[in-house]
Amino acid sequence: MTKNGITLSANGMTINLDPRHAMPDSVNFVSHAHTDHLPNRKNGLILTTRETRELAMLRGNDLINHVESLDEFKLYDSGHILGSRGLLLDDVFYTGDICTRGRGFLGGANIPKCKVLITECTFGREEFIFPQTAEIVKRVNEIISEMFHNGKPVLLLGYQLGKAQTLSYLFGHWAPMYYHDSVKGMNDLHTWLGIQIKEGIGHTEAEARGLLDKKPWIMVCPLLSEGNPFIKQMKSKFGAITIGFSGWARSRQPLYGRKHDYSIPLSDHCDYDELVRLVHKTGAEKIYTIHGFVEEFAAALNKMGFDAQPLKGISLDDFFKQ
Ligand SMILES: [Zn+2]
Ligand SMILES: [Zn+2]
Repeated sequence: MTKNGITLSANGMTINLDPRHAMPDSVNFVSHAHTDHLPNRKNGLILTTRETRELAMLRGNDLINHVESLDEFKLYDSGHILGSRGLLLDDVFYTGDICTRGRGFLGGANIPKCKVLITECTFGREEFIFPQTAEIVKRVNEIISEMFHNGKPVLLLGYQLGKAQTLSYLFGHWAPMYYHDSVKGMNDLHTWLGIQIKEGIGHTEAEARGLLDKKPWIMVCPLLSEGNPFIKQMKSKFGAITIGFSGWARSRQPLYGRKHDYSIPLSDHCDYDELVRLVHKTGAEKIYTIHGFVEEFAAALNKMGFDAQPLKGISLDDFFKQ
């Protein structure tokens, strides 16, 4: 673990996992196209999927020197967003961001056997247990149905890359459906990459054509807060109601989630139980936790009899020398 992220050395190879700066003379693995996982300086070789490269490009980050596969490395679908992968090098598996529940066009993650597991634990606390996707879809359809009955437009709010496409896909049977302009660009790229998302008009065009005056309608937007001018305008002008989608809706702390009219715990990450099952499934002898509740999740795993610790400035070479 360095300032630049996690560096793995095995079989004379060096690989940087989601590094802040892609380094020369090494392989740089980019697990997916969320901004906190993209390198901002590019040297050396970048290992990532075609989808991640295209999505990163749309966000103005060109992953040059890109390869989709290398002999020594095996990539596993991590089920987080389109193109996301975990990486297996020798006996070490790095999850990147991972989700084992299927959601719309995303299947659950594939999990390999390994000796050392480096896992994210964004929701690695017992309070975070998420419902099945089918249950969420049913509940949200009920809310939309009730709102439509009263002539109220509905805004579905989720991260611009990932969640927003899943929402467009899961609720595409409602019409008319519009997209916030920033979501439309991302949806169009998904369509181009082979994902069937319903075509829709962006909000600027819909408003200019007077389409938003014909209520009710539904719109997929980024995860904007209630104080955001766009949301305020949609509420005051059209009487829209908001449904926010985030795993944080399950948090005990009222600061997170629950700030929209409705908050639904749909997440692109594993919940607590999924994380524990993931650890079991790999058969790992040693588990390193990163991102999120690293101390608490490692402690919970140790209680279950695993050997776990947060990954902080330790060398994996030391493990192999044991
Ligand atoms: Zn992510
Ligand atoms: Zn992340």
